[in-house]
Amino acid sequence: MHEELLKSLAERAGAVDQSGEWPTAQLSELAEAGELGWFIPEEFGGNPISGEESLARYRELATACLTTSFILTQRNGACQRIANSENDWIKSESLADLASGRTFATVGISHLTTSRQHMARPVVAAEPTAEGFKLSGTVPWVTGAAYAKYVVTGAVLPNREQILVALPMNAPGVSVLPHTRLLSLTASYTAPVQLEDVVVENRYLLAGPVENVMSKGKGGGTGSLVTSGLAAGVAYRCLQLIEREAERREDLIPTRNAFHADYAEVDELLRSENPSAELARERANSLVLRISQAALAITKGAGFVTGHEAERAIREAMFFLVWSCPQPVVAAALDELVCRQ
Ligand SMILES: Cc1cc2nc3c(=O)[nH]c(=O)nc-3n(C[C@H](O)[C@H](O)[C@H](O)COP(=O)(O)OP(=O)(O)OC[C@H]3O[C@@H](n4cnc5c(N)ncnc54)[C@H](O)[C@@H]3O)c2cc1C
Repeated sequence: MHEELLKSLAERAGAVDQSGEWPTAQLSELAEAGELGWFIPEEFGGNPISGEESLARYRELATACLTTSFILTQRNGACQRIANSENDWIKSESLADLASGRTFATVGISHLTTSRQHMARPVVAAEPTAEGFKLSGTVPWVTGAAYAKYVVTGAVLPNREQILVALPMNAPGVSVLPHTRLLSLTASYTAPVQLEDVVVENRYLLAGPVENVMSKGKGGGTGSLVTSGLAAGVAYRCLQLIEREAERREDLIPTRNAFHADYAEVDELLRSENPSAELARERANSLVLRISQAALAITKGAGFVTGHEAERAIREAMFFLVWSCPQPVVAAALDELVCRQ
């Protein structure tokens, strides 16, 4: 990935975190650099890259700016689900504009995987109609909802089968609720989307009706390697900070060496052939939580000041405890917190 692009994103990462404003300029820079077509076929103006290459680029981006890289994951998840569907109409309708950055799409799928799983009734219900489906409920988490032309989202039918659709955000009955301030990533404009009897025609259907629709097709899987890649990217930024401090403070050399080895292990795991996504996430989560705290301890009171790199990294690390975090990874994190490994 271009050094200049990464440098420019890194320079503005603190400001975007502090302002909480949507990173329009950063997303334009990605478009100009041709980085919006990773999962879009060439026929629609994309420039597809392999899974390994995308993981490497996500890591670099997260080191530079977690906000931008996180938004890109959600947007790419939507592109992947559309591109890998069998719906040729929606592909020709949406993918060229997505590849150029003229439009934005995102995902709201957590209610089918990691959110609201303890609720007896589905949070988004679908009813079959003559022209397609009628959707009602609230999609709890949608990054960049206010900027999206389409939200790839799911709903549950009365027989418990599920559908996945590219929801057109201008459909009557769709409203984006206000986004709130978050511990970090407020600038991702993550908000609930309310659906009141929204008629979604069959031409927007990406998959289903089928049981467990998210297990079919590719794109933005829960706890996927990409989520670990982002955690590793933030961890690397902390490692760089610790290395800079250790250059002038000899007493920090053992700490730097220990984290170096720790990071190398996560790096090796992420680069290995077919790594276990669960293990990678457990290790990457553990590392980013510990190394960001070490960065704070090392930078002391200065690092505790709002806007300092260490202060931001600590808040960003917390995100990995809740984002796309499958139950076994949560359990491993809790075990580590009570020192029961
Ligand atoms: C910044 C951010 C951006 C995100 N962006 C997206 C996005 O773009 N697209 C997307 O699909 N997802 C997104 N997510 C969602 C994310 O991946 C997780 O699904 C989400 O964080 C899970 O949290 P939840 O509060 O919805 O979980 P829930 O499981 O719904 O928990 C909510 C509350 O319910 C209670 N509870 C939980 N489990 C139980 C239980 N077993 N019994 C009784 N009570 C219980 C607890 O009090 C808990 O606080 C985002 C999340 C964040 C934080």
